[in-house]
Amino acid sequence: MPVNLPAYSELISFLQSHHVTLVAVSKTKPVSDIQEMYHLGQRDFGENYVQELVEKQALLPADIRWHFIGHLQSNKVKYIIPFVHLIQGIDSLSLLKEVNKQASKHNRVVNCLLQIYIAKEESKFGMDEAELEETIKLVLSGTLPHVSIQGLMGMASFTNDTQLIKNEFAQLKKIFDKIGNDIPVTYLSMGMSSDYKMAIEQGSNMVRIGSMLFGTRNK
Ligand SMILES: *Cc1c(COP(=O)(O)O)cnc(C)c1O
Repeated sequence: MPVNLPAYSELISFLQSHHVTLVAVSKTKPVSDIQEMYHLGQRDFGENYVQELVEKQALLPADIRWHFIGHLQSNKVKYIIPFVHLIQGIDSLSLLKEVNKQASKHNRVVNCLLQIYIAKEESKFGMDEAELEETIKLVLSGTLPHVSIQGLMGMASFTNDTQLIKNEFAQLKKIFDKIGNDIPVTYLSMGMSSDYKMAIEQGSNMVRIGSMLFGTRNK
C-alpha cells in the first residue's frame, strides 16, 4: 500500500503549527514506503524491531534520523548503537546502563527517552516513578557519560475511554515538568495515530504515527 500523501501533508502542517515533531513509524512497511516519504522531506522514522531496523538502515539514506521505539532487549543494543538517533523505549535502568556501555565502545553519546508506564494495562512496558527517580539520580551523578536523557516517552491505554487517555497523558506531562527541574529535557513523546490530538492537547511535542500514514499493519 502506498503512503497516504494527503494525510501526510495535512498532518505535517498541523504538527508544524503546534511545534510538534513527527516520527513516522515505518515498522513492517517496505523500504519503498520510507523512500517515498523521505522524498517529501520526512527525516525522522521509527522502528520497533532491531533486525528490521538494521536491514532498512543499510539500504536507506544516511541522513535519516532513526528512532527505536519498541521494547529493546539488552543483548540487541549493540546492533543499533552505531547509528541510532534516539532510543525512545528506555524502560529500565539496566537497559540504560547497557546503552551507556555499548555507546562508550563507539565513542558515542546516545540520545535516549525514558519510557514511563502510564497505562492501566499489563502489556505495556516502562518505568514507574521510583525507578525514574533512581535513574535520574544516577544520570545526575555523572556515571553514565555515554547517554543523554532527552525526555520521556509514554503510551496511553488502548481504550475508547478518552477521559482515561487524557488523564494518562496529563499524568506523564506532570512527571515531565517535574523532572525538568532536575535535568534539561526537551522531548515529551506521546501520541499515535488514534490519540495524537489528545496527546498534543496535554503537552506532547513529539508524536509517533504509523498506520495513519502507511496504512494498517498485518503484524
Ligand atoms: C507502532 C507504534 C506506534 C505507531 O502506532 P500507529 O497506531 O500505527 O500510529 C507508536 N508508538 C509505538 C511505541 C509503537 O509501537
